[in-house]
Amino acid sequence: MSLVIAMDGPSGSGKSSASKGVAKALGLRYLDTGAMYRAMTWWMLQAGVPVEDAEAVAARAGEPVLVSGTDPAAPAITVDGTDVSAPIRGREVTNAVSAVSRVPAVRERLVALQREIIGEGGIVVEGRDIGTVVAPDAPVKVYLTASEQARAERRAKDLAADPAASVTVTQAEQARRDRLDSTRKASPLAKAADAHEIDSTEMDLGEVIEAVVRLAKEQE
Ligand code: C5P
Repeated sequence: MSLVIAMDGPSGSGKSSASKGVAKALGLRYLDTGAMYRAMTWWMLQAGVPVEDAEAVAARAGEPVLVSGTDPAAPAITVDGTDVSAPIRGREVTNAVSAVSRVPAVRERLVALQREIIGEGGIVVEGRDIGTVVAPDAPVKVYLTASEQARAERRAKDLAADPAASVTVTQAEQARRDRLDSTRKASPLAKAADAHEIDSTEMDLGEVIEAVVRLAKEQE
């Protein structure tokens, strides 16, 4: 497998910015697997599927047509031809996504799509189960963390336009999502045994990118 960089970690750890930065620095493609789970969730909500009902979600998981872009400068995702890049970041989708992503039929479908896109490599892939399940042979695996407070502050900054998204609310919603993502049966959020853990609490974005680029260069 040529270069695949697996970037896993909880929400707000800085995975997205770091993954895009690393892909740009090394001239690689970029895949945001969280956006795929969000897009699936957006479609379920639009279709009126009760997302807490795992059987109902599983029954319809094969229907939406998802297309993920891989340009780190302009990541895009469409569902049945509609660009959903903006709506998948809203609180409604964010608070429903863990219920959808725990459903094995959803994971099987999206993991297959992810492996197709990863193909021969040359890509930075961010998610929760990339190093453990999607690409266990990835030559570079990173598990990115940060303190709960730092993660909530970053998330709240991302959501600054939403007046309901205070640091306190964001922290509570994020803690709930992390708990669901880490305790589900189907490929929970987990650090691969051979992943390099980077704690970004006291690091700025440039330092995180540099640390991952260094790991990638050591692989060459
Ligand atoms: O990374 P992001 O916060 O956009 O991910 C949204 C959600 O998608 C996560 O909370 C998790 O439920 C799900 N997810 C997953 N496996 C991945 C990536 C994301 O279950 N590889």
